[in-house]
Amino acid sequence: MKRTVQKAVLRTLGATRLHRVFAPWTAGRGAILTMHRVRVAPTDAFQPNAHLEVTPAFLDRLLAWFEASAIDVVTLDEALARLSGGAEGSRFVVLTLDDGYRDNLEVALPVFAAHRVPFTVFVATGFPDRDANPWWMTLEAAIAGSDSVAWTAGRAATLLTRTIEEKYRAYSLLAARVESLSEDGQRAVMDDFAARHGVDVPGLLDAAFMTWDELRRLSASGLATIGGHTVNHPALGRLSDRRAREEVVRGADRLERELGSRPRHFAYPYGYPGKVGERDYRLLAELGFASAVRTTPGTLTSASAAEPTALPRISLNGHFQDVRHVEVLLSGAPFAASALRRRLSGSRRAFPDPAAASSG
Ligand SMILES: [Zn+2]
Repeated sequence: MKRTVQKAVLRTLGATRLHRVFAPWTAGRGAILTMHRVRVAPTDAFQPNAHLEVTPAFLDRLLAWFEASAIDVVTLDEALARLSGGAEGSRFVVLTLDDGYRDNLEVALPVFAAHRVPFTVFVATGFPDRDANPWWMTLEAAIAGSDSVAWTAGRAATLLTRTIEEKYRAYSLLAARVESLSEDGQRAVMDDFAARHGVDVPGLLDAAFMTWDELRRLSASGLATIGGHTVNHPALGRLSDRRAREEVVRGADRLERELGSRPRHFAYPYGYPGKVGERDYRLLAELGFASAVRTTPGTLTSASAAEPTALPRISLNGHFQDVRHVEVLLSGAPFAASALRRRLSGSRRAFPDPAAASSG
């Protein structure tokens, strides 16, 4: 339902060209885009994480559109230089991919290389270390392969998962349960859930995420910047000061040791209000990161240079794979409109960004 409304907003703005009226005030200098996976769409009927992936064909169309529209695709460092340089210049976008999925190397890199554009991959080091439980994939695998699932942490529940509707309902209910767990308690609960439902977590990690050797190959491509994304992919804002710092520093240490250089850029896991906050923006600045990106949508202005560890990003949501939607999003108009509506109504809800919800 929410997705239908969002699509209607994007389509109306696109069709009326109204976003172009606002663009001079809302488009800013450029924008950072968020992706996760890039692969040919699977044909499964149950795909609760489809918002986290775009196809290589869409990515190719998008990069061609940037070229045709004279929008420069730049690195994060170049974006920071342009923002603080103050000079007028072409509009730009920064392409980022979170988590470290193998398709970033096998599927996305050839597309980026064909267009000769740089990109950044933010890696949570528990994934290449094969010491993690990506709960969104574990839930999907458990629900896809069974007629019922049982949740035992806290309020116990057994959910039927026979039909596609039941599977989606169970996924959304259990995702909310996972997100209500403490960050440090989540792993044990999900390992137990995986064991009880026959989900092979090491197998999931091997199938979906790059190894360190693959990350070195990606890094050696000359187009990829590797950035930090913690060790265990927690919501930093829900951790103590000590644990938050540990997640950022240990992740950066690990990347430096395996890849030979210390990351200068960072993406907050989840990255939206409630999952990350002011304390974390100050922490990343204090730890010497040149930039850190959120998933709160928005465009970049010269003012963004003053808070480089709280940069907004726009998600390329798998349910919105249409270049015209991206054009409207880059105009900044939907976010400005939602900020205005929020101010008028006193609501705290931002332009809904489903890619930010349930993983990220
Ligand atoms: Zn992530």
